[in-house]
Amino acid sequence: MVKIGLQIRATLENIDEIKTNHPNYSFFFKLKCSNCGEQSEKWHDLTENEKQHENSRNPNGFNFFMKCKLCSRENSIDIIEGTNDAYTADDSGKFKVVVCLDCRGVEPVDFSPKAGWLVKAADNGQAFEDVDLSEDDWVEYDNKNKVSIGIYEFESNFIKLKK
Ligand code: ZN
Repeated sequence: MVKIGLQIRATLENIDEIKTNHPNYSFFFKLKCSNCGEQSEKWHDLTENEKQHENSRNPNGFNFFMKCKLCSRENSIDIIEGTNDAYTADDSGKFKVVVCLDCRGVEPVDFSPKAGWLVKAADNGQAFEDVDLSEDDWVEYDNKNKVSIGIYEFESNFIKLKK
């Protein structure tokens, strides 16, 4: 069992904070089997309030479950409750962990932010829902404060966390 933190970094312009719409936000990851090294080419999604593979052995199920195509090992991931965090103006330009994952037999190697982000403009400005960060840059206009706002150079990586 490995605990992994998803870190993001972006440059925020006139924005107070961005965060995922958890527990309904779907994280899209490319995954690698820790046993045989098989790496998926497709994106797998996991959502905190959705469970997969519920059965008598795992009555609570997992946020994500897959049987490795190559080595047949059963791998699973759960989002660790209460680890979702916002990325704020103070974090701008720095990496910050925004969610922690409990990984069993499989690890994420790539993250796609896609849609479902909540954005709050600075100085009590406009709030935006279901923002799509697929393009890595996002520009809007805050009608309340009459300024342009933006999210630029979105990046992500993963770090192993101490138990
Ligand atoms: Zn495998």
